Amino acid sequence: MLSKLVEQTCLAGATDAKIVSTKDISIEHHLADMCKDPQCENYGLSKSCPPHVSGPDGFRDLLKKYERAIFFRIDVPTEILVSPSEDRREVFRLLHEIAAATELSAKEMGYDDARAFAGGSCKRIFCHEHPDCRVISGAGECRYPDSARASMSGYGVNLFKLMKIAGWQMDRITGDTDPEATPMGSLTGLVLIE
Ligand code: SF4
Repeated sequence: MLSKLVEQTCLAGATDAKIVSTKDISIEHHLADMCKDPQCENYGLSKSCPPHVSGPDGFRDLLKKYERAIFFRIDVPTEILVSPSEDRREVFRLLHEIAAATELSAKEMGYDDARAFAGGSCKRIFCHEHPDCRVISGAGECRYPDSARASMSGYGVNLFKLMKIAGWQMDRITGDTDPEATPMGSLTGLVLIE
C-alpha cells in the first residue's frame, strides 16, 4: 500500500519519493537553532515556524507514534532557488501541496494519523499578501489548511542525512551558490505514516 502512496506522491509532482524508517530521521538541535541565529527573515511570522512549533524535542516525541515516512524531493534549477522570483514561490507552493496531498491520500488509505511537513515559510509562500499569519494574530484558523504545512527546519530534521539514506545527492544551495557551477538543487518534504 505504501508503494501506491509513493506512486501518488510522484504523480502529484515529486521528482522521486522513498519509504524511510523513522529511525533514520536524525533530529539535531543545532539545525533548529539556525532559524533563530542567524535569524531567518521569516522567524516567528507563522504558526508553522519557530518559536511557534514544538521544535526538536516535540518532533522526537511525535516520531514515537510513527514507524515509516514518505520522503520526497523536487529537483529545481538553482537559478530559481536563489532568486526572489514568483517562480521560487511557486515551487515552494508545489512542495507544500505535494506534502498535503500525500498526507490526504495516506488518510484515505487508512493511515489516519499521517502528518506532512515541508520546507520554507508558509507566511512567505501562501500569505505574503497578508500582514499577519491569521493564527498568530488570533483572527482565526489557517487560511490554507489544505496546502500549507510546517517547515522541517524548525524541528531540526537533518535533511542531508535523510537524502543520503534515500540514495540521493543533495547540493547545499545558498544565496551565494553559482547556478552555473551547481545547476540543480532539491526541495524536500516528509509525510509521517503510523
Ligand atoms: S495563516 Fe498563512 S502564515 Fe498562518 S499558518 Fe496558515 S498559511 Fe501559514
